[in-house]
Amino acid sequence: MPPLKVLEDVCTGCASCVSVCPFGALSMQNNIAVVNDLCTACGACLDVCPVEALVLERPQAEVKDISAYRGVWVWVEQHYGTVAGVAWELMGQGRQLANDLGVELAACVLGHNTEALVQEALRYGADKVYVVDDPTLAVYRTTPYVAALAPLVRQYKPEIFLAGATNRGRDLAGALATELDTGLTADCTGLTIDEKRQLQQTRPAFGGNIMATILTPNHRPQMATVRPRVFARPEPAAPHSNSIVRGKPMMLEEQVTSKVVDFIVEESSVNIADARIIVSGGRGVGGPEGFKPLRELAEVLGGAVGASRAAVDAGWIPYAHQVGQTGRTVRPDLYIACGISGAIQHMAGMQTSRVIVAINKDPEAPIFTIANYGIVGDLFQIVPALTKQFRARLGK
Ligand SMILES: Cc1cc2nc3c(=O)[nH]c(=O)nc-3n(C[C@H](O)[C@H](O)[C@H](O)COP(=O)(O)OP(=O)(O)OC[C@H]3O[C@@H](n4cnc5c(N)ncnc54)[C@H](O)[C@@H]3O)c2cc1C
Repeated sequence: MPPLKVLEDVCTGCASCVSVCPFGALSMQNNIAVVNDLCTACGACLDVCPVEALVLERPQAEVKDISAYRGVWVWVEQHYGTVAGVAWELMGQGRQLANDLGVELAACVLGHNTEALVQEALRYGADKVYVVDDPTLAVYRTTPYVAALAPLVRQYKPEIFLAGATNRGRDLAGALATELDTGLTADCTGLTIDEKRQLQQTRPAFGGNIMATILTPNHRPQMATVRPRVFARPEPAAPHSNSIVRGKPMMLEEQVTSKVVDFIVEESSVNIADARIIVSGGRGVGGPEGFKPLRELAEVLGGAVGASRAAVDAGWIPYAHQVGQTGRTVRPDLYIACGISGAIQHMAGMQTSRVIVAINKDPEAPIFTIANYGIVGDLFQIVPALTKQFRARLGK
């Protein structure tokens, strides 16, 4: 039975609903709207019906008691004692969310020999640190991590749980959300609190063409992952608390089916995510050789070279340089976009840069809407002129 009902005595046969249905689920018979099985309950027709002759019978979501959930938790991802920078970035944003809600900000530290990490979490502003310290947690593995975290969440009931959108963070958050039967929004670019105390989780949707704000109204915790460099890292300070809660590992080593044999570090000469200055090129550079003046400018400034997806897809520069939704998210002090139009998917990866300079021969290019400084002109004239000036001023 389709979930959409037509009130036949109310329907005037105007057919407005038929043309807006994206699934071809509505037609007219004897001047009355008729619904077929293609209806997905999307609700697009409800807004256009002038007489409210359409009724959507959505199944009621299971309502859980979420009133006891309080607090913001951040997972402090670490690998052999080195914390992923995104964890501290999330502590900064977590502090903002906790303040807006009037609740505690807590860090979750899992690992082995974690005392230094616990102290670091306190310096990054944690009101409380939940710790599970055990040899089974020395390196990240899904099952022992979820087994240790899930009981803590069930017992202490945070309303928000944040993790970095790293390989490990994405893995943990997905498995934990499934275990806890709650929602998870991946790769958020914005996190705010609405007037009902709900976490507004904003992320690109439909191939990055729109920004969607997602809520988790009926389940807790509200879980989100955030890519590195989306939020600013706060400065560590003297701890204002020494509240530590110790949890249990919950699994013995022999119960964990996955074993870590070795770690092989991938050698890569490019790490645009950590660069303070990025000179980035797009289709406007015209070919692989078009990156040469950009490399020269980057070298003089001590920066790295970035690229749009158009330049990467054309094979002009390797993927490791790509900035944007399907590339790296960067947050340098200075981002110089050369011959890049400013598609939403590109801007999603660089718009939080401190200063953005755009060089483009099209004065209408969207990149100028977010640029602090815009230079309209040919990059092949402007970039070498900038390099010359910087060389002279920096004595290089
Ligand atoms: C799902 C999805 C994910 C995507 N992910 C990404 C992503 O991660 N990163 C990304 O960048 N894109 C991504 N894209 C692609 C994105 O939509 C754009 O197609 C792409 O960013 C365009 O790259 P561009 O600005 O280099 O090229 P164009 O849009 O073609 O712009 C070229 C610009 O160069 C200017 N120009 C040309 N010659 C010169 C010159 N001599 N001097 C100065 N200016 C000049 C032109 O005026 C123009 O504005 C994604 C798209 C989809 C659908």
